[in-house]
Amino acid sequence: MKIRAFVGLGANLGNSAQHLADAVAALRSLSSTDDVMCSSFYRSAPLDAPGPDYLNAVVSLHTQLPPHALLEALQRIEQAQGRDRTFRHAPRTLDLDLLLYGDQIISTSGLVVPHPRLHERAFVLYPLAELAPGLQVPGLSAVQALLPAVKGQRLQRLEKPV
Ligand code: ADP
Ligand code: MG
Repeated sequence: MKIRAFVGLGANLGNSAQHLADAVAALRSLSSTDDVMCSSFYRSAPLDAPGPDYLNAVVSLHTQLPPHALLEALQRIEQAQGRDRTFRHAPRTLDLDLLLYGDQIISTSGLVVPHPRLHERAFVLYPLAELAPGLQVPGLSAVQALLPAVKGQRLQRLEKPV
């Protein structure tokens, strides 16, 4: 059985659009995974952190990989694209977060789903709502109901292709 999962993508070093496009290509080639769809790209200001603006997007996919295996796959893609973990919230070539895994609620030391900061980030909620306007976020509410609280955050949807 395939589960619909959502992955958050962010990049703010080097050619961010290229890093996002490469990440989407890598997600398309994951084993036991298909129906990979990417939202528009969005430009956002970094939260609590130095550095240039971010480019963000959300990807929806259907996968047979269990959640921890999917997270490991995301981390392999981050590493392959030269992510350098210097300090928390440091500028990074590529950040991949597992936002949602079906309607599952997961809370282990290495993996928390839904992603714990999903509801406070415009750069996650707007692309998520673009891909899945009728989505219910497990344990929270409809994605549409979460948008008003983050409306004040600077976010610009870019026309495709970037
Ligand atoms: P952040 O994305 O908060 O800037 P990192 O990408 O460095 O930070 O992630 C730090 C840790 O968060 C990872 O080692 C990972 O195990 C953990 N983690 C917990 N839940 C998730 C999730 N849903 N998606 C991605 N990483 C997660
Ligand atoms: Mg991360």
